[in-house]
Amino acid sequence: MYDCIIIGSGPSGMTCALYLKRAGKNILVLEKSMPGGQMVITTNVENYPGFSHIDGASLATSMFQQITSLGVEVRFEEVISCDLKNNIKVIKTDKNQYECKTLYIATGASSRLLNVDGEKRLTSKGVSYCATCDGALYKDKIVAVVGGGNSSLEDCLYLSNVAKKIYLIHRRDEFRGDKVLIDRITDLKEQGKIEFVLNSQVVEVLGDDKVTGIKVLNKIFSNTQIIEVDALFVAIGRTPDTAIFEGLEFDDAGYIKVDSNKNTNIKGVFCGGDVSNTHLRQIVTACGDGATASLSINEYLTKH
Ligand SMILES: Cc1cc2nc3c(=O)[nH]c(=O)nc-3n(C[C@H](O)[C@H](O)[C@H](O)COP(=O)(O)OP(=O)(O)OC[C@H]3O[C@@H](n4cnc5c(N)ncnc54)[C@H](O)[C@@H]3O)c2cc1C
Repeated sequence: MYDCIIIGSGPSGMTCALYLKRAGKNILVLEKSMPGGQMVITTNVENYPGFSHIDGASLATSMFQQITSLGVEVRFEEVISCDLKNNIKVIKTDKNQYECKTLYIATGASSRLLNVDGEKRLTSKGVSYCATCDGALYKDKIVAVVGGGNSSLEDCLYLSNVAKKIYLIHRRDEFRGDKVLIDRITDLKEQGKIEFVLNSQVVEVLGDDKVTGIKVLNKIFSNTQIIEVDALFVAIGRTPDTAIFEGLEFDDAGYIKVDSNKNTNIKGVFCGGDVSNTHLRQIVTACGDGATASLSINEYLTKH
């Protein structure tokens, strides 16, 4: 029986683990993929205090080494269901079943799909949701990026060092990202490296066994054009990973509702980071949530 099981080893789960282990609790972290969560696919982090810039994978490795050197038990198993009804919570993974007194949900978020023809069929054959993972495959090729926020702008910056040309396709006429990123992208546009395709959306991904182009609809003129590309990087946001949880309260967008102490509506179940209905989804806030939750978890364990 664990004092706490933490689902997810992104920054939120790892921070919660760090604090709980230092408080002497018997904890287990369950991770379905690799440690670090979304940090692993982040090229350059420039807003985590203490580092003027660091690549996400290095930050993830440092956090992971910090918790494992303290003796935190981490198992690479996917949680497939949770029974949260009773005081003892039962967590089933693809390999085992565990019991715990408290649960910290830090499952984060996954890439949102375009849901257009050709997308699923050509995923990993030119359609990618991670420029830092797959960008190197398209050296000196022509690629497209879809999106208008920080992720898409960061993807363009990364790809500008690899690809010959980038089309940035956005459904509005202005970007939602940080000014510093927009300025850098605008410089690249002026250098001819990036072409903006605004007020437009991808309606089909073309190609038989690999991406050869995209069909793009201009929303103002209602006409379509085909742009020949070797890859399409989709960066249109994330959706919370909540499918395995029953009985929790969610907000309208599907994020798990928490109070300021990271309590959910179920006693003994806590949640934080990107999967929760937080105001800002960043590494530093995910870490803060993990720390706050650890205090609430400690208080709960003392009383029960
Ligand atoms: C391209 C990109 C760039 C970004 N750049 C920045 C930046 O520069 N600065 C910044 O502060 N933030 C940035 N972010 C946002 C930041 O990475 C996230 O806010 C942060 O990682 C959220 O942390 P988290 O711990 O809540 O969730 P995540 O990082 O999403 O981690 C969740 C973990 O849970 C695991 N998991 C999910 N479901 C299960 C399951 N059923 N069983 C077991 N494990 C499970 C996942 O595999 C994952 O490892 C960026 C994000 C992206 C995608």
